[in-house]
Amino acid sequence: MAAKTAPAKISASYPRIVVPPPGPKAQAVIAQDKGYASPSYIKEYPLAVAGGQGAMIEDADGNRYIDWMAGIAVSSTGYNHPAVVKAVQDAAGKFLHVCGTDFYYDAFSKLCERLSKSVTGAEKRRVFLTNSGTEAVEGAVKLARHHTKRHALISFHNAFHGRSYAAMSLSSSKVKYRKNFGPMLPGVYHLPFHNPYRNTLEDCVKAAHQLFETQISPEEVAAVILEPMQGEGGYVLPSKAFLLFWRALCDEYGIVLIYDEIQTGVGRTGKMWAADVHGVEPDVILSAKGLGSGMPIGAIIAKESVMTWPRGSHGSTYGGNPVACASALATLDLVENGLAANAAKMGERLLKGLKKLQTDHPIIGDVRGQGLFIGVEFVTDRATKEPAAEFVGKLEQLAFSKGLLLLGCGKSVIRIAPPLVLAEYDVDKGLEILEACLTELED
Ligand code: PLP
Repeated sequence: MAAKTAPAKISASYPRIVVPPPGPKAQAVIAQDKGYASPSYIKEYPLAVAGGQGAMIEDADGNRYIDWMAGIAVSSTGYNHPAVVKAVQDAAGKFLHVCGTDFYYDAFSKLCERLSKSVTGAEKRRVFLTNSGTEAVEGAVKLARHHTKRHALISFHNAFHGRSYAAMSLSSSKVKYRKNFGPMLPGVYHLPFHNPYRNTLEDCVKAAHQLFETQISPEEVAAVILEPMQGEGGYVLPSKAFLLFWRALCDEYGIVLIYDEIQTGVGRTGKMWAADVHGVEPDVILSAKGLGSGMPIGAIIAKESVMTWPRGSHGSTYGGNPVACASALATLDLVENGLAANAAKMGERLLKGLKKLQTDHPIIGDVRGQGLFIGVEFVTDRATKEPAAEFVGKLEQLAFSKGLLLLGCGKSVIRIAPPLVLAEYDVDKGLEILEACLTELED
């Protein structure tokens, strides 16, 4: 039965462009979408997906692309990993829903235990399951306020935490995410995030002290929420010292330190959590995106001493849906048994290739990354570091036309966040296409 319902496998060569995208079938999908879907969707470029395998996507017209974006860092195990597909099919054949907030089932309990034990640190963790990243952020804000009985929240410039009200209020990566949606959640303060390419740790620490001297006492702060590596804000990797500063401050004042690992977590950095890269432990980790290989699931993973909210104070009708839990359990198996290690290995290969491109192409200002979480920042001038704002859009479009899927972030950064199943071929061929695009655009 599984074989009959399994998605068709695509095994021939890629990348290949058989008709300049968008071809006629893609155009039909796009026209219908434009007719009826909300105009708020971004739709980066006219890619209409029909299938995929590993780190390859096939569009509606049979064009095949190397995928360096994984549906925005989500498709961790690729597009239809047999182990994940089987787990989803088996779970769907049993029951689709019963509500984990009110009743029990095996996959829910198992996933809570697996996630709890996936986090490094002496203290036991407890887990709340959600449908999405933004729901995990909302829940974490509620948890921190409930636990501390304080209201203020500290977030960072260029942060992105989601689109619901608390998450949007904590975000500051682009004004379009906030414009005309105010008023925002009160009590949110934004501080500089350490970006080794653009500011100094001292600047960040000074701004924090200034905030506490002039605007809000740290004794009123419920939580500091940060991405241990910023995603949407530009794939920025702060120093370990920055994380240590906030860990120490949170310890001193009893503030809950929350890492939003919705983009960085579940093996992407070569470790299960980005927190493990520097070993600076938060009190709460938030997960989503790659956790379910594309099935909607997220998690709040908190120290037992912090997850103190009582029975009935928080719940979710669909959070921890049995099919999504099965997908997450299969994903964790794969990540723990090889994919995190593959992310580390392929990440090194990619970084090496990108740094070589940087020596030949002055438009590349910075290359940074950890595992398969890599940012390439483009500048008009290496001395002034002026962002090459128009360049990223052009590069995305050109790479798309040549069979490589890229995605921008920040002001002028390409984020490279492919499926963790990426192979050497996908790295080398992708680099070749990227180089051809850079050469063409620089001419
Ligand atoms: N937090 C981070 C770091 C993210 O990158 C995102 C999504 O891009 C979110 C939160 C929101 O997640 P979702 O879109 O699942 O609500």
